[in-house]
Amino acid sequence: MKLVLLGPVGSGKGTQAGIISREYNLPHISTGEIFRNNIKNETELGKIAKSYIDKGELVPEELTNKLVEDRLKSDDCKNGFILDGYPRNLAQAKFLEGITDIDLALMIDLSEDKIIERLSSRRMCGSCNQPTSLEWMKEGKCEKCGGDVYIRDDDKPEVIKVRLSKQAVSQDVINFYKEKGVFSKIDATDTVEDTYALVKAILNQVNND
Ligand code: AMP
Repeated sequence: MKLVLLGPVGSGKGTQAGIISREYNLPHISTGEIFRNNIKNETELGKIAKSYIDKGELVPEELTNKLVEDRLKSDDCKNGFILDGYPRNLAQAKFLEGITDIDLALMIDLSEDKIIERLSSRRMCGSCNQPTSLEWMKEGKCEKCGGDVYIRDDDKPEVIKVRLSKQAVSQDVINFYKEKGVFSKIDATDTVEDTYALVKAILNQVNND
């Protein structure tokens, strides 16, 4: 299955993508995570990406599109993939359409109040690269693998505000996928498990079509 996860920053897309990836054995491709890895390894791409990411802005189109195009050519994407954080605008959606057809664009939605609440308690695990939160961690470590956690630079309150205003899922992306008949939306206010139950019902429906 070729899946695109849409949704505002902090809606829990990354967490849901991680679960889907394990359960359906599909690669989880997060453009944000690829950029963070490049920043960590101090690559040329990382240096450029960091200057945008730290300000809450989007990394330029050419760089992001090329990175996704290359990643989707990998062998592990032959049976499908989960794109998380891409496409973020209509230009990217159209670029993706030129590479491959998408089976489902699933929007994981959440109100702004909840987003701010979640992002301020979000932590990232430096070992398994999965998001966690102050609420879930065990003895100050990642509850999944016991790794050390850190706060993303762009989860600082002043950057969160910019990301929310500049990176909302644009209506034209939603309309683009609605017109193709592959758009679906769920609300992620409830727990991770409850949200995943909603996700799974939709995935299974698409798989059976
Ligand atoms: P995320 O982990 O998806 O919240 O992404 C972290 C940051 O990486 C974003 O705030 C953007 O600066 C950058 N980024 C991630 N995905 C994209 C994309 N599809 N297009 C442009 N910039 C992106």
